[in-house]
Amino acid sequence: MRDFAAELEQRKQAGLYRTRRHISGPQQPVLTADGKRLLSFCSNDYLGLANHPSNVEALKNALPDAGLGGAASHLVCGHHEAHHLLEERLAAFTGRSSALFFSTGYMANLGVISALAGRGDTVFSDRLNHASIIDGCILSRARVRRYAHGDVASLAAMLAETSGHKLVVTDGVFSMDGDVAPLGELAEVCREHDALLVVDDAHGFGVLGPLGQGSVGELGLSEEDVPVLIGTLGKAAGTSGAFVAGPAVLMDYLVQRARTYIYTTAMPPALAFATCASIDLIEGGDGRRSHLQSLIDRFRREATALGYSLMPSRTPIQPIMVGENWVTLALSRALEECGLLVTAIRPPTVPVGEARLRVTFSAAHSHEDLNCLLEALSGCRHLLDEKGNAS
Ligand code: PMP
Repeated sequence: MRDFAAELEQRKQAGLYRTRRHISGPQQPVLTADGKRLLSFCSNDYLGLANHPSNVEALKNALPDAGLGGAASHLVCGHHEAHHLLEERLAAFTGRSSALFFSTGYMANLGVISALAGRGDTVFSDRLNHASIIDGCILSRARVRRYAHGDVASLAAMLAETSGHKLVVTDGVFSMDGDVAPLGELAEVCREHDALLVVDDAHGFGVLGPLGQGSVGELGLSEEDVPVLIGTLGKAAGTSGAFVAGPAVLMDYLVQRARTYIYTTAMPPALAFATCASIDLIEGGDGRRSHLQSLIDRFRREATALGYSLMPSRTPIQPIMVGENWVTLALSRALEECGLLVTAIRPPTVPVGEARLRVTFSAAHSHEDLNCLLEALSGCRHLLDEKGNAS
């Protein structure tokens, strides 16, 4: 048998071994991880809705009527009116004709890409797309061409030399860098070259745009511009699941063909009702979004002044670039000693030599929380200068 233990040991030696923390209690900025109280700057609960009292109340109220278990897949007998209502709410909120609910964003990406592209087709994928998009491309059995990150000109050149059905897929906000894809230009190039554009706005939904309609909504891009819009509900919406929104004919096609929709149990119906309550909070969440933006702006100014290197990001994802795995781990541990939880992100999640601390902000953070982070970063700054000795 393959020596799995030796492979794990090698990962440890390379600073690539992954561990899990045991969280107890609800997800909120101050949480208990492995029995220790820590101030967290690494969750995707961007609007602080994961434990919002009105969402918790909505879930409690929905339970007696809608019940807990999904019981079956949507096409057998699992498609509850709660799922239907949520789909209608999401379609209206994103300005799309219809929406289809998936159990997770991972499943949405696998199902959508493998249903819309197949053998003989070509999928064009940004180099920094999320793992679930990469896996969806593999599953589709289409030819996959990766284009340089955000490089619309090189994508256009690739599209021009390709015939047959073409699918272009991109993150709306890139999950590890925090930058926003050039969606207007991508829509134009896709129109010119008759390619179907799929945008996974997992990290933009709820956060960007005046009402939180995401990176696509922020630019006012219509269903004609972005025919397939994917959003996840476990991040800014604070619950769980994902959706795809677009023309009714496409949603119908996905119901027939997306295997990760067809062959999986429907999400607990009560959770779908609670997610409707979350969408209301997102829609009325301008105050949350402007507070979040003030945290982001201040962090960028003050962390840069401390000598940290940040990415060109205006979103709640604010990675501190470090480079070496060991230095990133050392920084993460040092921050933990100061009572902060900031995860070290290493290859293969990010390219080799680009390990980073993925700092993320939530509207549930206060400016006092940010003071704690900046003070701790100031105290740990010397670790970056010890780079050469770190390994
Ligand atoms: N797309 C992107 C860009 C993501 O970052 C993630 C998860 N981090 C997903 C999809 C998967 O979503 P989910 O967690 O709902 O499976």
